[in-house]
Amino acid sequence: MSKYFEVSGDTVKAKFKKCPKCGPGYFLGEHKNRFYCGSCHYTENKKK
Ligand SMILES: [Zn+2]
Repeated sequence: MSKYFEVSGDTVKAKFKKCPKCGPGYFLGEHKNRFYCGSCHYTENKKK
């Protein structure tokens, strides 16, 4: 179980969703019910 948390770098970044269109380095901004990419305007609905 502790092994999972030892992956420190990626774990922190994983809090932000990457934009599937723009690729690495672009993250989706979090909104109330969706994620939004300010670069390509990609929108992804949040899952409950
Ligand atoms: Zn994008």
